[in-house]
Amino acid sequence: MLRIGIAGVGHLGKIHAKLWKEVEGVSTVAIYDANPAQASAISNETGIENADDLEGLLEKVDVLSIVTPTPTHYEVAKQAILAGKHVLIEKPITTTTEQAHDLIELAKSKDVKIQVGHIERFNPALLAAERYLDDPRFFESHRMAQFQPRGTDVAVVLDLMIHDIDVILSLVKSPVRSIDASGVAVVSEELDIANARIKFENGAVANVTASRISQTPMRKLRIFAKEAYLSLDFGMKSVDVFRLESALDPVKQHAGLTMKLGQIEKGNVPRTIIYEKPDVPELNPLKYELELFRDAILQHSRPVVSGEDGLKALEVAEEILKTIKSETIV
Ligand code: NAD
Repeated sequence: MLRIGIAGVGHLGKIHAKLWKEVEGVSTVAIYDANPAQASAISNETGIENADDLEGLLEKVDVLSIVTPTPTHYEVAKQAILAGKHVLIEKPITTTTEQAHDLIELAKSKDVKIQVGHIERFNPALLAAERYLDDPRFFESHRMAQFQPRGTDVAVVLDLMIHDIDVILSLVKSPVRSIDASGVAVVSEELDIANARIKFENGAVANVTASRISQTPMRKLRIFAKEAYLSLDFGMKSVDVFRLESALDPVKQHAGLTMKLGQIEKGNVPRTIIYEKPDVPELNPLKYELELFRDAILQHSRPVVSGEDGLKALEVAEEILKTIKSETIV
């Protein structure tokens, strides 16, 4: 049975600890946190043993969830991989692409797996939307959060926007052609609000906005695909679809609400405009992410969000940060 450990049991790490305990076929054996008081509080709460240090934790486990602050991911992951452990690294994989490259190479040499915690890939709204996403052309994302000091050790691009960058890169199977971006550090020392327009070689365009100083939280992604418009709400875990259907198309039968809104003609073919609200599976995205990482390890398959995926998202995030820096007038 795979033995699981968690490094960093703050806001998100304690949720990893609780959810790993619910995952079947693994045994959650130990935690470690640089703050001993936090470690012992979570150990008491969850009944999971508290290791004295990272080395001690690594001796007890096969898999490590790394849920420490982003600037520490690299050192913690490196130590774990060198000890031959599979690692689930919270997003973003690291703060620099050099560090991410290094971890990927190390993991290959040690024959261990990396999964990166880009949790929206496991969001049921995205899972329900995927079957409609034939050739997506335009994306508009808004990820807005209320201010809180956690996460401000990195720019909002690495903290929040990277979720949408990763989702979009997973849907557009084409290299990035160009990036235009702007952003401002309003409250913290790092960018708190940013917008980027990403153009892809295949002509797809993504307009991505993230803020951590908003009054109203929002996690929305609108997608214009071939003959379909989708509106995803990651927070509400819902998706609305407007699409065209012709009598020649194979019959699509989906669970959920379907309404015919009218008829139009496109390319001399009569089409029906259809509104659908597909059923969204009931699942906890983080628990599902942990379960799929367990499966990838046991089945020797590629994790859903691999180290390479984490690196690709980070490359785009770095490019956005570089663009913003170069365009900032001092
Ligand atoms: P947090 O500050 O609440 O918790 C971090 C914990 O790590 C603290 O308890 C701290 O004492 C401990 N720590 C610091 N350095 C350590 C080290 N070297 N070894 C062991 N423990 C150490 O932060 P958080 O909000 O839980 O975020 C942690 C990570 O999770 C960040 O990388 C963040 O980007 C990521 N995160 C991801 C999501 C998501 O949606 N996937 C959401 C929130 C946070």
